[in-house]
Amino acid sequence: MSDVHICEVGPRDGLQNAKHTMATEAKKAWIAALARAGIREIEVGSFVPPRLIPAMADTADIVRFARGLDGVKVVALAPNLKGFQRAVEAGAHKVTFPVSASHAHSLSNVRMTPDEMVEEVRRCAQLPHPGVELEGAVSTAFGCTIQGAVPEDEVVRIASRLAEFCDVVAIADTVGYANPAQIRRVFRRVRDAIGAKLEAAHLHNTRGLGLANALAAYEEGVRHFDSSMGGLGGCPFAPGASGNVVTEDLVFMFESMGVSTGVDFDRLLEAREVLTRGIPEEPVYGHTPMAGLPKGFRAAA
Ligand SMILES: [Zn+2]
Repeated sequence: MSDVHICEVGPRDGLQNAKHTMATEAKKAWIAALARAGIREIEVGSFVPPRLIPAMADTADIVRFARGLDGVKVVALAPNLKGFQRAVEAGAHKVTFPVSASHAHSLSNVRMTPDEMVEEVRRCAQLPHPGVELEGAVSTAFGCTIQGAVPEDEVVRIASRLAEFCDVVAIADTVGYANPAQIRRVFRRVRDAIGAKLEAAHLHNTRGLGLANALAAYEEGVRHFDSSMGGLGGCPFAPGASGNVVTEDLVFMFESMGVSTGVDFDRLLEAREVLTRGIPEEPVYGHTPMAGLPKGFRAAA
């Protein structure tokens, strides 16, 4: 059992927003390599209309493939009821719903107000979904490229509504606006409101504060983190947003602190090679992969 739990979201958040497309077989090779590195949860795709996001057209195939990997929890994103039904049918272990705390982002991203989206998720929760975990992810929780400031009260309110019928709730800095003080404040307020249902932090590294924000969330008691190999990712509806926190750097930070992630760093670098071979034109980021592990580095026990 590791001290923190890392969900690799690159195959979804990264590839959905990459300029280049990764072939289905290359995605499978990458996901298998991530599993070999010890990643125990992978968000493998999203059930959105293929005409809107062609890069996600093979998600059902990818979900079925990933289910065959030992010990991997397979996550898929669904923006609505139809997407949820497709995710359950394909066999996803967990479905995550993005629910914007920003009114403007919500209309742009899912063409629903935040409250309409909450009701859409509630309808999904009421459908039979044996063994499928539901995550409500409060997105643009720290600011929005369209609306600007997002009231913290609104984040707490949306999280509380989602906690009524979701198994877990995540808080997302979709566009990389957060700072560590804000992270502490918002995670504390949401935990006070919904307790242990608050699970994951989904952080973007747009302004270089991804790791600082992850550490702030860790110190507030968060033990589940989304991250993306090579920092792939962003949001097509949020101009200016770049990738997630870099998985390799997040693993290094925690392991060097003595906080175990369950991830083998050398194998993680092998997975990074599989990624760059599969989508060679796409830029990848990360400090530790470039600099290498420090001399005498020891992973957490
Ligand atoms: Zn994201």
